[in-house]
This record gives sequence, structure tokens and C-alpha cells, in this order.
Amino acid sequence: MPVLVMKFGGTSVANLDRIRRAAKRVGVEVAKGYDVIVIVSAMSGKTNELVGWVEETSPLFDAREYDAVVSSGENVTAGLMALTLQEMDVPARSWQGWQVPLRTTDAHASARIKEIPTDNINAKFAEGMRVAVVAGFQGIGPDGRITTLGRGGSDTTAVAFAAAFGAERCDIYTDVDGVYTTDPRITDKARKLDKIAFEEMLELASLGAKVLQTRSVELAMRYNVRLRVLSSFEEQSDTAGTLVCDEEDIMESKVVAGVAYSRDEAKMTLLSVADRPGIASTIFTALSEAGVNVDMIVQNISEEGRTDMTFSCPINQVARAEQAMDEARNAGALNFAELLADKDVAKVSVVGIGMRSHTGVAAKMFRVLSTEGINIKVITTSEIKISVLIDRKYMELAVQALHDAFELDKAA
Ligand code: ASP
Ligand code: MG
Repeated sequence: MPVLVMKFGGTSVANLDRIRRAAKRVGVEVAKGYDVIVIVSAMSGKTNELVGWVEETSPLFDAREYDAVVSSGENVTAGLMALTLQEMDVPARSWQGWQVPLRTTDAHASARIKEIPTDNINAKFAEGMRVAVVAGFQGIGPDGRITTLGRGGSDTTAVAFAAAFGAERCDIYTDVDGVYTTDPRITDKARKLDKIAFEEMLELASLGAKVLQTRSVELAMRYNVRLRVLSSFEEQSDTAGTLVCDEEDIMESKVVAGVAYSRDEAKMTLLSVADRPGIASTIFTALSEAGVNVDMIVQNISEEGRTDMTFSCPINQVARAEQAMDEARNAGALNFAELLADKDVAKVSVVGIGMRSHTGVAAKMFRVLSTEGINIKVITTSEIKISVLIDRKYMELAVQALHDAFELDKAA
């Protein structure tokens, strides 16, 4: 029988009523003839509570025990979902990650999936079981201990199962009805997309659109898993939600697909570092070893052998970045006049695969921002994305103006 993967996020399994409602959706697909693999998140808020307990107990916690605790939320919903299905006379069984076994690397708290053997679950399907309910977000490491895949990791579990079982599709049920051209809280002109290309979704996810864990999109792209994002709160048809798919499956697409933003950015500038080979390597090695996620990087024009180096990072990593730079300076590896931190910036980006073949997107973006009197502090581009750092107080305005200018409220 064809296999379908259905993933339910935290709000879709927040209480027993919602689990029943989700189970009914599963029943509909079973009745259509699918063998279904259901991936569940923990009840909404549960993982945060568990993380809080760990941090309160042990601020510099042992990551193996963190995983033992925070993976537990999914165990509860997996068992409850299997019971609910059984009550509806749908043959169902639950699996925790180690039982599959979903094997991961040993990077506790941010492990990567290495393999998902299918024989165990397929044997049950062959015996007449119709739904395998799998606890998302967790696996088993080479040391035989429980691992977790990083926050939001059940999306990645779902896509990995879809790839391993050759599922027809991977449906991600969530509390929004799809992927939008931008955050509907910022402009009511935001429009739901029927389809979006993997690469666009990847950019949007890593730029802060929180619908899907970035790694799940990477994985879907690599294995060409058709991913559908849809709401568990609305009656569903086969075409509901947004399909994340190969760009070849999208007939008409606009040059720009969406506008993304990230509020929690900081702009850091090292003033007067030596302009010679190895300096960028010293700076960014030190930052990476300190766990700072550097995003944009700009090296300014040099004068008399010295230059300024600007980079951006999440605002909550500023202290870490400062410490890393001070340590590098004290160790004699680096010399700079000053490190400036601007914590009042936000990043706004336009994304679209059409940019590969159309010119003038950057010019238009900059023109729109200048018309609104918004100063651009840093610019970076990729083949399908242009990002700018601006003052945070203009972020909403910038998103709205760009959304209007690129006419994202209108279908392609
Ligand atoms: N429950 C986990 C989290 O909140 C994993 C997930 O829901 O995707 O991060
Ligand atoms: Mg999520």
C-alpha cells in the first residue's frame, strides 16, 4: 500500500480533544488506502517546560541528560495518539526513536539522523497494522543513549521517514494554513502560496519563517520529498495548504516569492584590524569556536594596512562574540581598536528563484527602501536572495513597502 507521512505539531496535539481531531484526519487517509506514518510533537509548551526544568536544575547541564528529559514530551503524545486510533478501530502502534531505531550522530541536543531502518515498521504493516505513530524529535546515538534533533526537530523526523519509506507525500499539520508571502501579522496583504520551491522555502526557513525546521527542508530537497504544510484546524481537501516542491513542478512563479525578516539581529564591527592574510580566518574561527552563528560579513575598504570588519549575529550571542574577540586579542592572535555592537537592527530579505533570470530586483528593493527613508546598513546577496540590515524600528515598514512594491498580494 502507498505510504503517507503525517506530522502533527505541538498545537495540533495540545490536548486530548485535539489528538482526537488529528486522529480523525489520520483515519480519513487510512480509509483512502494509505499506510500512514504519524510523527508527533510534544503537546505545545511541553518542550519549553522540560527545557526550563533542565536549566533550573543544572545551568551547565550534561547534554545526554538534557536529551533524556526533553525527548519525553513526544513519548506521551505518541502513546496517546496510538491509543486514540485504537479507540477508533484503526490498528495502530507507537514507536519511540530508539525502538525504530532512528540512529543519529552523537551530537546531543542537535543530533543528525544517520539511518532509519524500515524493516521493523514494515513488518507490522504487513501484519495489518495501518498506522505507525512515531515520537518525533528523538533518536538513539552511537553511545546507545537518547538524542534529540534540535528545537523544531520533528519536522526533520517526518521528512526523514518520508524519504526512508518512499512516502507519496509528507503532510505537516500545524497551526497556520500554509506558507505565506510574508508574516500575516505584519501585513494583512500577505497571501498564502499554493506552491513554493524547495530552495525558496529553505531561504525563508533559515531567514526566520518558523513554519518548518530548516534542516527538514534541506532533507526534503535532497530526497525530493513532496512536503505539504497545512492547518489541522480546518477541513482539508487534497489541495489545501502549501506544497513545497521541486521548482519544475511550479508553472508560473513570480520573481520574488516572499519577504522574510528577522528581528533579533545585531551588527558587530571590529574597528581597525590588520589587513593581511589570515585575519578573517582568525576572527571567524574564534567566533565559530565560541558558538557564534555569524550571518552577514562585510570587510570594508582598507587604509594604510588596516580595515574594519563587520558581521551580524543573533542578538543573544553578542556577549559571546565580545568575549571571543577579547580572548583572541589577549592571546595576541588579533589586534583591533574597538568592537562596536549595534543591537537595534533587523534583517529584511526578499527571496525568489526568479531572481536567477531577472535583473533589477536589488535596484528595486533599494529604491523602495530609500523612498521610505530607510537607511541600509549592510547588504548581502545570494543567487535567489537579497538581505539588508536596517534599523529595527523600520522593519515592519520595510516589509510592508517591499510586499507592496513586488505585488506579492497578487497571484502570479
Ligand atoms: N517538541 C520539540 C520542540 O518543541 C520538537 C518539535 O516539536 O518539533 O522543539
Ligand atoms: Mg515546529
